[in-house]
This record gives sequence, structure tokens and C-alpha cells, in this order.
Amino acid sequence: MLLTLTTTHRPATDLGHLLVKHPDRVQTFDLPAGAAHVFYPEADEARCTAALLVEVDPLKLGGGRKNRAPEGFALGQYVNDRPYAASSLLSSALSKVFRSALRGESRDRPELAATAIPLTVRVPVLRCRGGAELAVRIFAPLGWTVTATPIPLDETYPEWGDSRYVDLTLTGTLRLADALNHLYVLLPVLDDAKHYWVAPDEVDKLLRAGAGWLAGHPERALITRRYLAHRRALAGVAMARLTELRLADEPPADDSIDPAPGEAPVAGDVRRASLAVRRREAVLAALRDSGASRVLDLGCGGGALLTALVADRRFTEVVGVDVSDRSLGLAARRLRLDRLPERQRDRIRLWQSALTYRDDRLRGYDAAVLMEVVEHLDPPRLPALEDAVFGHARPGTVVVTTPNVEYNVRYEGLGPGRFRHADHRFEWTRAEFAAWVDQVAAAHGYTTVVGGVGDDDPEVGAPTQMAVLTRADRNENTSDDRKEATNR
Ligand code: SAH
Repeated sequence: MLLTLTTTHRPATDLGHLLVKHPDRVQTFDLPAGAAHVFYPEADEARCTAALLVEVDPLKLGGGRKNRAPEGFALGQYVNDRPYAASSLLSSALSKVFRSALRGESRDRPELAATAIPLTVRVPVLRCRGGAELAVRIFAPLGWTVTATPIPLDETYPEWGDSRYVDLTLTGTLRLADALNHLYVLLPVLDDAKHYWVAPDEVDKLLRAGAGWLAGHPERALITRRYLAHRRALAGVAMARLTELRLADEPPADDSIDPAPGEAPVAGDVRRASLAVRRREAVLAALRDSGASRVLDLGCGGGALLTALVADRRFTEVVGVDVSDRSLGLAARRLRLDRLPERQRDRIRLWQSALTYRDDRLRGYDAAVLMEVVEHLDPPRLPALEDAVFGHARPGTVVVTTPNVEYNVRYEGLGPGRFRHADHRFEWTRAEFAAWVDQVAAAHGYTTVVGGVGDDDPEVGAPTQMAVLTRADRNENTSDDRKEATNR
């Protein structure tokens, strides 16, 4: 099974940095079902090709409890096309061998990892249920130019017709991570015969790898069904979550850490998937308790929290603020701003603003949220944010959430010293967060309550840290309202 990946981006040998595989070496990796080799058939300034060759050991593949032969065909586990056709094994190999590239991370070339570059992917022999036409339907909507040539059953006897295999070439200008995630999900989809048992955590894997492209894919139903090996209950769950995502195509939540395939699913996976939801609920509860009606969501991203705020009528004015135009566009779509009745529409504002500069529009609000935002700033810029938010905008209440870096050891697959998200500039321990909160509160006249969100681990605490800062000079009426709200 062979897959090659070519770029003509100059210098093309940067591909080696992105894949973290040196072009001058052949490297071999053990797989649960064989071995994967990475090498470069060509590597110069103008053009560089990395090849991933997967060798399958039929005994290893067939021997496992999970791969019993069909009844009455005991040899089926040894005599099959698995070793020869690109399939879901190639996909597992991809994610094992190119893990950081799949996540869009690159220590040496971070900007290039975030940039669309000219790419050609070739899989000379791909088992494709549904034929060449399906390969086009699946890859073309993602920006690929697809050439899928059916491979004849036997070249000497063309009248026998085509085999189930195609020779697939994809060309396009895409981020390498997107290309790899497409392949990771869609090769097994085309093959439609997963080699391992589909566990419930596959839904999470699918949604993580599909972040940003699957929810809006015209063939998402087929992709989901096949990826989850036709297990209807799981496909139903995945489709429901995709529908929720579709308006926002949001980037993966910050806590989306992908365990390496082949690793046992982590016990916490399911809980982890819902951490984003629990965080949102905790923030909403703090806002309700504060008695706020006019609320700022600072660094609102794709607008997941905004949607929940708008759904609650006690919030009479909801403002999403972000520096990113794209995020604001996603938030507007997610909120269906253009379709809302005027009365609803009037409660919502979306403003582009950088939180490191004073902005008069943000003054006079009851509460502000900084959910998973501070860790996206370079530490030297934090004082500017503190001044703009706590010094200038001065909302009555500020709810801040940020990862608890101590908890990262509980995420299998997150190497030591790694952050949960490629864009994080830092992640704080509980002591560091508490110290920051204390310092901000003292400097700007706020009182604080600090806690966690998610399951509290006895050693390392909860995965998310949260602080509620209340302006000390808030008038009595407001704090009475707050007590009432808390007792509800
Ligand atoms: N609050 C959202 C998004 C978190 S991601 C959620 O929890 O899902 C961080 C967001 O902060 C991104 O949308 C990013 O564009 C925004 N951001 C980062 N630095 C910013 C700055 N200096 N000013 C305004 N927004 C910023």
C-alpha cells in the first residue's frame, strides 16, 4: 500500500519539516498490523515527494480477536487483499506517522503549516466501493481536482471490466493538515471495510479530523455512515453533532486532543468530548448568578456561547467581540443573524476589536466573558488586555476560563510540554492562574472566586480553570439582584 505526497512549494524540501521526517532518511514505524516506511523518492528545491509505504503482516492483521474470518472461510484472514490495497490501514499509518502534521503543528515551520500550499496526493491502488465517480464526489467538494482511473481487472482481458480499485490522484492548494485529515477520514470511507471494531470514541475521532470541513460536506451522511462502519446509533449521534456544527464550521474545541490510533481509547474520551459543553454551562451559570443582562463575549470565536446567551431572554444585550473577521462571520452564520426577527436581531452585536486596545464601545456592560482566550495572547501582551478589559471597559463581572496545564498529563497522546491547541501561547498551572487572577483583581478593584470545570482529579485538578471576578464597587442593588439570582 503506497501513498505519495508531493509539493512544489519552494523550497519544496520544507515538506520534510512539516512532516517531521528528514528527506535523506528512510524511517520505519511499527504498526499494530505491520510496518510503515517513510522515504522521499525526490527531494529538491522545486519539488519534493514523500512516500508512505505500509507493509501489512497478514498474520498480525488476522490474528487479533477483532478480525475474525467470516464463518466458513477460515483462511479468509490470511488470504485477502488487505496487504495490497490502500485502505483504512493506510489511514491509521498516516495518523501514527504524521501526527503533528495532522494537527497542523510544526515546530520548525509553523507559518507554512498554516498556509495552503500546492499539493499532489497519489494513491496508485485504492479500493473504492462506489467506483471512481464516488471518489470524485467525496474529494472534489474539498477543493481537490480528482483524477480517479479505474484499474481493469486484468489488462489482458479488458472485456472482464474494471476491478474494485482505482488509481487516485488529487491535486490542490491546501494546508497540509487539511489534506492529511481528508485522507485520514476518506480513505477508509472509500474502502468501506474498516479493519477494526468501531468503538464509540470513533465519533469523536471523526468529528475532530472532520473539523472545519465535514459539517458542510454535501456527502457528510455517506461519509459518516461508512466511517462508522454502518453502526446506525453512532452515525446518528455523529450526524446530530455535525448538524449542530454546520452553521459554524468551527475549529476544533481547544480540548480536542487526538489520541494516536492504535492506542487504547482513553477512558476519559467521552467526558472530554463534552468538556466544551460543560465549560459553556459553567460560564452561563456564573453569568446568571451575577444577575447580568448586558453581556460581552470577548474573543467569541465561532459564537457557540453567543448562541446560548441569545437563547436566554434574561440577557437583553449580547455582544460578541473578536479580532478575527472570519470568526465573526462564522458567529453571524451560526446565529442566523440575517434570518432573525428584528426584535431578536436588536439584542445582538458583533464587533471586531482587539482586546489589547482600549475600546470605548465595551464600557458600561454588566458582565464580560473571556472563555479560552487569554492563553492565545503572547504573555507580554497580557497587561494590555488587563488594562483594556479590567481598567477601561470595567464590566461588573468578568468570567475567565483557561486550560489547567497540570491536567495535561491525563491526556494520553499529548506529549510532555505540549499544549492543547496549536495556537496556545502558554497554559497555566492552578497556582499561576490564581496568582494572575489575584494580581488583576488587586490592581483593578475586583473580588475573585476561582474554581475548575470538568471532573476534578485528586492530583492534578480539573481540566479547565475558571475565575469569576466581581467589581468591588458594584452598587448594592446589583448585588441584591445577584443573591436572588443565585438562590433561584
Ligand atoms: N471563546 C471562544 C473562542 C476561543 S478561541 C470559545 O471558547 O470557544 C480564542 C479566540 O480569541 C479566537 O476567536 C481569537 O480570534 C480570539 N482572540 C485572540 N486574541 C485576540 C485579541 N487580541 N483580541 C480579540 N480577540 C482575540
